[in-house]
Amino acid sequence: MTDNLMQTYRRLPVAFARGQGAYLEDTDGKRYLDALTGLAVCGLGHAHPAVTKAISNQAAALIHTSNLYQIPLQAALAERLCSMSGMDRVFFANSGAEANEAAIKIARLHGRTRNIARPAIIAADQSFHGRTMATLTATGNRKVQAGFEPLLSGFVRAPYNDVDTLTKIGENNADVVAVMIEPVQGESGINIPADDYLQKVRALCDARGWLMILDEVQTGNGRTGKYFAYQHTGILPDVVTTAKGLGNGVPIGACLARGAAADLFQPGHHGSTFGGNLLACAAAHAVLDTLVNEGLFGRAADLGDRILKGLKEGLAGNNGVREIRGKGLMLAVEMNEPCPDLVGKGLDAGILINVANDCVVRLLPPLNLTDAEADELVMKVTALING
Ligand SMILES: *Cc1c(COP(=O)(O)O)cnc(C)c1O
Repeated sequence: MTDNLMQTYRRLPVAFARGQGAYLEDTDGKRYLDALTGLAVCGLGHAHPAVTKAISNQAAALIHTSNLYQIPLQAALAERLCSMSGMDRVFFANSGAEANEAAIKIARLHGRTRNIARPAIIAADQSFHGRTMATLTATGNRKVQAGFEPLLSGFVRAPYNDVDTLTKIGENNADVVAVMIEPVQGESGINIPADDYLQKVRALCDARGWLMILDEVQTGNGRTGKYFAYQHTGILPDVVTTAKGLGNGVPIGACLARGAAADLFQPGHHGSTFGGNLLACAAAHAVLDTLVNEGLFGRAADLGDRILKGLKEGLAGNNGVREIRGKGLMLAVEMNEPCPDLVGKGLDAGILINVANDCVVRLLPPLNLTDAEADELVMKVTALING
């Protein structure tokens, strides 16, 4: 059935026919509770009526023109994102990797303004920034990079959640122009840094004249309990990228920047044929309307607390569990041993989960679960893990 697809994914033996809220139904009519939402994409759940209506109406009127012309819906979306984030300007792309490519290009232009001929960006171990050549170079995972050498030059590695090492790199490497990090590392298994980590990175970036670039492709759009995860900390980055949850399934990415960093791109520097087209912007407007009108940032925080507490109770006494952690609705149960088989067992049990980094059960459920759905999720996940 997949003979004509390049073999980039080891696909599970299931296909879904429809969805409603937190539930998906497969082609045999079996129902699943979706605790993964297509990897933090469908934060409002499936077939959300506001998104469906917005994209149907927009598709009937006009899907795409070009960035050669004015696109008022795109400009309005940028204004909204800026007022929600404290940023000044937005570049729209179609994915997380593309949003990060824009951020990397902005960092290199920042280097030029400082007369640094070979600007370098510090990126963290265990990070994930995408699969394009620049973003896989930034990614701190050899599995993502292996086979694709030569990687790009101009990247320096540092451990995550370690400001001392960043400080030392600053003392020894005058080519550094930016630090690029995730506020919570998602793909490598929900790694949550110290509460003051982002503040300390901000202070170091200020002292060194580095751009602070936050990759909020996964953490953004309300997932951690604020629109962006850095909004828990009181700091502002210079550049922030997002994508996944922004269109609830319609591809859209965004690179937001503030201050001088927002003015580095000039005509001819960057572009995208599809980026920020009318259909994608209509979806994102509907997502923002819903997140704000339904108070889903606070809801994500409360649901996260509820699920975390439930998991801790339900898994207490399970010796296979190493740690249960979460920030809003980025939740993880780390096991002592690799547990990739839990994904397939979850399918049998009607729950969609993911296993990251071999040992971490990762949950990224919708932000608008009911309490009953959250409790069902806890029950199914604890049953799955307790076997
Ligand atoms: C998923 C992800 C990306 C890549 O996004 P794509 O849309 O797949 O290109 C980049 N950064 C982070 C933190 C992600 O979670």
